Amino acid sequence: MVERPSDSLGSLRWLVEMGVDEGLSNDPIDRFARMPVTPDLGAVPRSVRGNSQSLVSEESERQGSEPSKHGDEFENVRTLGQLKEVVENFEPCGLRRTATKTVFADGNPKADVMLVGEAPGADEDRSGLPFVGAAGQLLDRMLAAIELDRTSVYITNLLFWRPPGNRNPTNEEIQQCLPLVERHIALIQPRILVLVGGISAKTLLGRSEGITRLRGRWYEYELAGPKVSIATTCIFHPAFLLRQPQNKRDAWNDLLSIRERLNQLRQISQ
Ligand code: URA
Repeated sequence: MVERPSDSLGSLRWLVEMGVDEGLSNDPIDRFARMPVTPDLGAVPRSVRGNSQSLVSEESERQGSEPSKHGDEFENVRTLGQLKEVVENFEPCGLRRTATKTVFADGNPKADVMLVGEAPGADEDRSGLPFVGAAGQLLDRMLAAIELDRTSVYITNLLFWRPPGNRNPTNEEIQQCLPLVERHIALIQPRILVLVGGISAKTLLGRSEGITRLRGRWYEYELAGPKVSIATTCIFHPAFLLRQPQNKRDAWNDLLSIRERLNQLRQISQ
């Protein structure tokens, strides 16, 4: 149990240890006072609210969260606008209550390439857009190297809210958001899905290996409903490449492979 210190320097140190690593406003916000006493689905469309599978049920929590089929749990959510609304009102994931902004997506919803990162960091939490900090700027440069940018890709994350202090998301938080992310992929239906970093790759591929083993290969990501499979690969997370630039050679090969696959798919459909 962590003791609450009484002096102000001690309080500050305690906050830093709890993951509060920056000031966002001059006035304190009591987020817990805003928490509803009972779960409230707010503006979730009626069709979603009525779907008994749409929330993580006590039963599935007890059994240990079983991965849903890709994209079927929120099948009543038919548009990106509806999905955004569902996400913004999604009660089960507690990260929503500590985050400043919901980070839904950026880029072109009609793009051939969809990227799924891990979770927003401090810059994304402030701006409400994915991959805008240092890692995001490297990602933009990586995309530019294969003639892609935010008009030709669609970018989102496995989690829509920043974990406090940039800690790793828990498995429970990932499993809570997973059906929403799967629906997101089903709504975009990109030709190519790029999983950015180990957490995204392991979760969406349902594999236990790390990114070093998973990268450099292609997988088929099957959507539940429309019997569509999406060519999927994974790349090192740009934040990892910033820390370990010696891996950029592998990252470059992965980017070339994405460009080649994209060209092939575009030629087939011409
Ligand atoms: N890292 C991620 O995985 N996603 C972001 O949006 C920012 C950093």
